[in-house]
Amino acid sequence: MTIDFGTIAAVATAPGEAGIAVIRISGPEVREIVALVVRLGRSGPPLMLDPGNSHQLFYGRVIDPTTEHVVDEVMVAWMAAPRSFTTEDTVEISCHGGVVASQQVLRAVLAAGARPANPGEFTMRAFLNGRIALTEAEAVLNVVSAQTSEGLERALDDLRGDLTQRLEPARAAVLAALAYLDASADFPDDEIPVSDVHADLSHAVDALEGVLAGAKSGRLLSEGATVALVGRPNVGKSSLLNALLRSDRAIVTPIAGTTRDVVSERAVIEGIPVTLLDTAGIAESADVIELAGIERSRQAIARSATIVLVVAGSVAPTFEDLAISRDLTTRFETGALGDVPLVLAINKADLGAGCDQSAVVEALPGGVPAVLVSARTGAGMTDLEAAIANALRGDLGSVVQPSLLNARQHAELDRALQHLRAAFEALEAGFPTDVLATDVRVAARALANVTGEDIDDALLVEIFSRFCIGK
Ligand code: GDP
Repeated sequence: MTIDFGTIAAVATAPGEAGIAVIRISGPEVREIVALVVRLGRSGPPLMLDPGNSHQLFYGRVIDPTTEHVVDEVMVAWMAAPRSFTTEDTVEISCHGGVVASQQVLRAVLAAGARPANPGEFTMRAFLNGRIALTEAEAVLNVVSAQTSEGLERALDDLRGDLTQRLEPARAAVLAALAYLDASADFPDDEIPVSDVHADLSHAVDALEGVLAGAKSGRLLSEGATVALVGRPNVGKSSLLNALLRSDRAIVTPIAGTTRDVVSERAVIEGIPVTLLDTAGIAESADVIELAGIERSRQAIARSATIVLVVAGSVAPTFEDLAISRDLTTRFETGALGDVPLVLAINKADLGAGCDQSAVVEALPGGVPAVLVSARTGAGMTDLEAAIANALRGDLGSVVQPSLLNARQHAELDRALQHLRAAFEALEAGFPTDVLATDVRVAARALANVTGEDIDDALLVEIFSRFCIGK
């Protein structure tokens, strides 16, 4: 597969009504194309861009090169190679916003000889022309799709080359191991110091494990997790959901059993985007509608990353509170909940000294954090948020440096790690070095597919096809 470096053009701004739209053109024929479609000023001569005079802004009109009709009034930004994003000659035409104007300008540019850009093609050129690393190029995508400010911060770190730097120890160790293994294949009679290979492989495994652990926390920050609020009716689940959202989405009424379905809302807790589920009480109920809600809430719980059991601290634990606690514990112990952590929220703290909830605590698995809160006054809400965030972060803590990996990068690094572990085990088991070398080579290739060294054209095109057009 060969990559075509002809002149490309695309609308770089999002479609829809807007003040302006920008058409981006990059490649060797930018100046010829501009001379064909842009007239300076109101009725001036063709715009001749000077390669020796970069970073200039011109006012003019775009004309259709086939009919000579004026299409739009525009500003043209000129960036001569190599001082542009793609490092090629680049022009950005700002025209009137809206789909029609931008499409007409683009059509004129295409009629003058450019071809429509593929998704991500501008960014791919920036990578191929050496302006940015592959990890930076993919971070561009993460910047565009980041959902929280923390997610954005991670993506921006990657954009500054952080991920490439963080992969460097693993890469260096893999290459060193490979050099030893190749040497032992070339000179089978010489004794290769196995201890060096051993150390290299173990370094590489550690380094990759670190990056992948960081990715787990990065994923939590960028994609978020689901948190289910469960408990018998009337303990204040909807009120707590509202307090966590600081809005009034779920209907709060003093009549038990009003939350008939699962209410789902997005909130941000300590930087983690969270989908909060308010479930109908898990109590036995004769009401058909409520039974359906209960079934849905069971399913919702099964999909959650953390479960907050809500009880009312103002009254003694009821039979239902204990039944729900035991139900959670059973499902926890039988593995039906996986390793989903639990948090106990003892609500209605504003109603006085409160009643002993130790029966609930005892019915739950050991070590569940309990937080006293009041959805009504907001007391203890920060503690509840902290407990939820801790539960979500789990053993990740805040030690590992989060990084954002997309699914592709994650799969490649996982593959590298698996093969490095296999090589390490083979070495320990005393297998011949050529057996190891195969695994180490696969690991090296997988790593290079992330850092972008000698990367295959077809893979590149696939990576960049996830970008939007004009990016
Ligand atoms: P749910 O059925 O568990 O979702 O409970 P709701 O959120 O609908 O609350 C049931 C009742 O308890 C409502 O009358 C709420 O106003 C009240 N309530 C909820 N949280 C608190 C709280 O922290 N303090 C007090 N005093 N009342 C609360």
